[in-house]
Amino acid sequence: MQPADIKNVKITDEFWSRKQALVKKEVIPYQWEILNDRIPEAEASYCMHNFKAAGLLNEKMRKKGDAFEAPRFTYRGFAVFPEKREDAKDDEFYGFVFQDSDLYKWIEAVGYSLMTNPDPVLEETADHAIDIVCAAQLPNGYLDTYYIINGMDKSFSDLRDHHELYCLGHLIEGAVAYYLATGKDKLLKAAERYADHVASLFGNGEGKINGYPGHEIAEMALFALYDLTGEERYKALAEYFIDERGKEPNYFEKEHPDMKGKPDYYHQAHMPVREQTEAVGHAVRAVYLYSGMADMARLTGDKSLLDACEKLFESIVDTKMYITGGIGATHLGESFSLPYDLPNDTAYSETCAAIGLVFFAERMLRIKADSKYADVMELALYNTVLSGMALDGKSFFYVNPLEVIPENCKKDERKTHVKPVRQKWFGCACCPPNIARLISSLGRYIFTEDDTTLYTHLYAGCETTKTVNGKNVSVSMQSGFPNTGNVRITVTGAAGSDFTLALRVPGWTGGRYSLNMTGASEKETKNGYIYLTGFEDEAAIEISFDMIPRLISADTRVAEDNFKAAVTRGPVVYCMEGVDNGENLRQIKIDKRGTITEEVSDEFGYDVVTLKASAKRIIPAKTDFKPFGGLYSEFTSVEEKEISLRLIPYYLWANRGENEMSVYINI
Ligand SMILES: [Zn+2]
Repeated sequence: MQPADIKNVKITDEFWSRKQALVKKEVIPYQWEILNDRIPEAEASYCMHNFKAAGLLNEKMRKKGDAFEAPRFTYRGFAVFPEKREDAKDDEFYGFVFQDSDLYKWIEAVGYSLMTNPDPVLEETADHAIDIVCAAQLPNGYLDTYYIINGMDKSFSDLRDHHELYCLGHLIEGAVAYYLATGKDKLLKAAERYADHVASLFGNGEGKINGYPGHEIAEMALFALYDLTGEERYKALAEYFIDERGKEPNYFEKEHPDMKGKPDYYHQAHMPVREQTEAVGHAVRAVYLYSGMADMARLTGDKSLLDACEKLFESIVDTKMYITGGIGATHLGESFSLPYDLPNDTAYSETCAAIGLVFFAERMLRIKADSKYADVMELALYNTVLSGMALDGKSFFYVNPLEVIPENCKKDERKTHVKPVRQKWFGCACCPPNIARLISSLGRYIFTEDDTTLYTHLYAGCETTKTVNGKNVSVSMQSGFPNTGNVRITVTGAAGSDFTLALRVPGWTGGRYSLNMTGASEKETKNGYIYLTGFEDEAAIEISFDMIPRLISADTRVAEDNFKAAVTRGPVVYCMEGVDNGENLRQIKIDKRGTITEEVSDEFGYDVVTLKASAKRIIPAKTDFKPFGGLYSEFTSVEEKEISLRLIPYYLWANRGENEMSVYINI
């Protein structure tokens, strides 16, 4: 199966169109200013600065007879910033070693945005940026400004930490999106040249580098380049990276002898990928790797690789995923923690990791239409991914905790990674552009298709067409998600064809839905999808999924969540905030037999379903017997005060200023 052609999926959905418009209006222009260091109050990026500096050096190196000597490599650190912005020198590299990737992610978001919203001015800006990037590329195809500026003699000498292959991956992804949007291939050709250069250096032969990316992404990007160009060498390079990872002797130990004898969980290089059964290490790297593995399993039919993907997916979903679809429980190494260790207030749950989980789930859906993958994709999307961006599109979360007490985040060193409000930008700015590219490319995630069947995974209003048996079938979907579970789909032109429409029944419905249709009939239900066939020329399908609010508790092995529950409604996880319920949210206990009522609120600028639940605020009675000083007194009873608890969607938290928040509530 393939995802439906994104250019052929027109998003008409009110909820998602609003997000896409925000990305176009706020995120993309703001990020361009950031990349050019024109926002004084935000950390400077130096991204475009570096491309320009590399372009100048490149030009000097090209000039024959010039006395210019290419710089010898000088290590200046993983992240280099000048004292003051005005101190930046024209020929120095600044920022993180992977700073180039920020532009590539921007280009990718621009590409996807242009597909749905053509904008000649934005396209001209992107063309201008691409000219600057291409001027920095060396004649042999190499393109990474950190080494071009700091000295090429050490290029590819630190695959573990220096992200040249990570930048290659993002370059490819950006170039593919921009080419698909505009038909312009300048950046695509640059990406191919860099990929060809890498392919010429890597391998198992004499004098070759037998390594692989320290930060994965090149794998799935190269498969995307193969999908687009049909060039086997890109597929082969991606397969090489996947096959080599974790083999003995460990490549990263050669680069970094101090790693000897220590299993490299962080980079998922602790064992060959086919033997891996537990999701470990840096969460973003992990899900990017698993996405590439799933691509490879799909393209090669490699059963052992598919088995590993399935086990790793289960490891995440059954033992390491927050109810919000967030992953990576600890800030130590931005990593997965032990199974069932899912702390709420020190959670890392990076926005990028949830985005990577969407990538992984979507790739598993290309192999098999099983609603368990789409359930996770939807959960991550409607909760952690959306939480990553403010309602106005102007600030972002890197970390997505499930419980916040603002004072504690500021003063407790164990929680300094947790921010109580979204930030304007980050020096390490992976998350905001990642949100921008995912939201702009939403059209890729709604459907997958094979010759006859259109599989519907997400219920986002849109229009698409599909050719089956030479007939042009039009599909139009209107959806009330996430406010209501009502979906209406019309299909025209399918009469006499083998067109099949598969509709996902989300796991959260518990099988409760109603389906009415004219002009089509139900064939079967399999792996969480209802298959409709026998289409007449005009068919109308109405499906209504039950979105009653539910109390969901975690596996009892998640010690943090014992005697607590989260409230969900459809795919949306709810939370309580201090602004609605007062501070000290841990004193609140929800009435588990009480009813939860729905209200439509317009305080967030559009209609949002908020919830009211009967609850109590519980405070131990004060007693005078304090055997160990003022902090402790003998327990006698509790004071209970009835309250009406207000819950809002988790993705909307911290849009009304700094305040307490908690997803889990005492039961
Ligand atoms: Zn990130």
